[in-house]
Amino acid sequence: MANLIIAELEKSSLKSSVRQLITAANKLQGDNHLLLIGYQIGDALAQAKQLPGIKKILVVDNPALGDESPEKTTEIVLSIATNYSHILTPASAFGKNFLPRVAARLDMTQISDVIAIQDATHFSRPIYAGSLIADIEVTESIIPLTIRISAFDAVMGDEDNQAEITHLALPDLPQLSQRIALQLHESSRPNLDSAKIVVSGGRGLGSEENFHQLLEPLADKLSAALGASRAAVDLGYAPNDYQVGQTGKIIAPQLYIAVGISGAIQHLAGMKNSKCIVAINKDPDAAIFSIADYSLVGDLNEVVPELTSKL
Ligand SMILES: Cc1cc2nc3c(=O)[nH]c(=O)nc-3n(C[C@H](O)[C@H](O)[C@H](O)COP(=O)(O)OP(=O)(O)OC[C@H]3O[C@@H](n4cnc5c(N)ncnc54)[C@H](O)[C@@H]3O)c2cc1C
Repeated sequence: MANLIIAELEKSSLKSSVRQLITAANKLQGDNHLLLIGYQIGDALAQAKQLPGIKKILVVDNPALGDESPEKTTEIVLSIATNYSHILTPASAFGKNFLPRVAARLDMTQISDVIAIQDATHFSRPIYAGSLIADIEVTESIIPLTIRISAFDAVMGDEDNQAEITHLALPDLPQLSQRIALQLHESSRPNLDSAKIVVSGGRGLGSEENFHQLLEPLADKLSAALGASRAAVDLGYAPNDYQVGQTGKIIAPQLYIAVGISGAIQHLAGMKNSKCIVAINKDPDAAIFSIADYSLVGDLNEVVPELTSKL
């Protein structure tokens, strides 16, 4: 049987996470089919035709799908789900919103936040905020998987994959909810999910003003994305979509600079797999130093401007 990959879209283009999903799907048996759901998604379809490792592209492009409703996505996935052995989607808000509904309606076991795939029935996922890794065997006929994107490399290259393209009929869609408005935080910085360098701030910044005045010049010098601890988000220093951690984004950039962040286990769960971690904190006993590659003990109000000017 084949694997169904459900791609996340952003402004009708494919998000780069589709490439990590293909790497994950390649560890299973069978062909990979890609499902695109939305309205006016011609750009996403053109990009999908260039992805290596895709045998078939399924498209549902309809004005009714412009609101990205998880209830509607669920119905579309359910209309074809029994043709597949595995259903893969990112462990992002997009995937977490609809895949549990699909799994429940199929009466199958979802494996969430998969970080490794040994074969078609064996998977690994973190538990207790990443303190332990659970190795799981599933022998059910359809296995829904949300994939932790940062745990898989992106499949590289562009090629005309000659995939068969099928336009699916729209199933009956529920009218359970309606999107009233969409507020997107626009930024010219790299996307936090995929940035190679992340500068992240915590409660130690002391104010929203300080957060931006100290961290933005440093991030600009490094072409980095900005991140934040939950405390910084809750205090209004940074927007919600900056949050890194167990209940925020789980990332693994090449370089993560943690400024005024203590290193609570829930924060570490979101960034401890970063390739190089730099921590700046005035408390020499801060937990963040236990996982940092470079530890700088000092007052961030002095250290960060100095670091920025030296860069
Ligand atoms: C269920 C659950 C889920 C959670 N999910 C998340 C999550 O996804 N992400 C997350 O981040 N947290 C999460 N948390 C919260 C987490 O437990 C911590 O409360 C939070 O991470 C603390 O943020 P912080 O490090 O910015 O603040 P604090 O712990 O208050 O640390 C601030 C640090 O700044 C340092 N500091 C202060 N002033 C200066 C200065 N002038 N110079 C240098 N250093 C300075 C201090 O020494 C301190 O170490 C979650 C908690 C729960 C219970």
